[in-house]
Amino acid sequence: MIIDTNNEGWSCQKKILVILAHPDDPEFFCGAMIARWCALGHQVSYCLLTKGQRGTQDAELDPRVVSSVRVGEQLDAAAVLGVSQIHWLDFVDGELVADLALRNAIVKEIRQVKPDIVVSCDPSNLFPAPDRINHPDHRAAGQAVIDAVFPASGNPGYQLRDDTGVIPAHQVEEVWLSLTNQPNCSFNLSEYLDIKIDAILRHRSQINLTEDEMKERYSSRLEEDQITGEMAFFEKFRRFRLAIK
Ligand SMILES: [Zn+2]
Repeated sequence: MIIDTNNEGWSCQKKILVILAHPDDPEFFCGAMIARWCALGHQVSYCLLTKGQRGTQDAELDPRVVSSVRVGEQLDAAAVLGVSQIHWLDFVDGELVADLALRNAIVKEIRQVKPDIVVSCDPSNLFPAPDRINHPDHRAAGQAVIDAVFPASGNPGYQLRDDTGVIPAHQVEEVWLSLTNQPNCSFNLSEYLDIKIDAILRHRSQINLTEDEMKERYSSRLEEDQITGEMAFFEKFRRFRLAIK
C-alpha cells in the first residue's frame, strides 16, 4: 500500500548513502530521487560494491578495461545528478554474495560515512517485471545492506577495527529500498526525469539506445498522478523508519 506521496517529512538536511551493486544501478533505480535530494540540499554519496567488470558482451575484453571505463562513466553520471563522492568496495561483479565479508565491508562504510539515510534495493524482488529476472548481485547487495544496518552497524558489541582501532557504532535512521515490488511510498519526479535520463546516458558502454529512444522508453512508463490527474514519472520505494533506542 502506498502511504506517502512526495513527502519525506524531514525537518533538516540529511546525509544519504546509496549502496548498490554496480555502476549505473543508482541512476536506473532511483536517479530522479537522487537528483531531487541533491537539489534540496541533502548530502548524497554512493558506495558501489563492484566496478561492473562483467558489463560487456565482448568475451575478449580485459575486465580491467571494462572496470575503468565504467568507473569513468559512473563518476560522470553521478556528477550530473549532483553526487561527487563515490566509494568503491571492489567486490567481483557477478559474484556478490550476502556473506559476512560483504556485510562487514558495508558496516565499516556505514560507520565511517555516518549516514542518516541508507538507500539500497529490495532483496526480495526476484522478478522486477514480467519479462525480467533480477540480477543476483542486486539481491545480494540489498540483503547485505539490510543485514549491515540491523543490528550490526548500530551495535557497539559488533566490533570492527580499522588502522585507528575499533570503529564506533552508527545507527541509521531510515532505509529506502529501490527496485521493489512492494513500495510504501511514491514520488512524482517528473521535473527530474530529464536529468535522470541524461545521467543514465552517461553509461554509454551499457546502453544501446539513442537519447530519443531512451526518452520514448520512459514516456511509456508514465502513470496518472492521483492528486493532479496528470501523467507523471514516479519512483517508488519500500521505506523503513527504524526505531532508535
Ligand atoms: Zn546492476
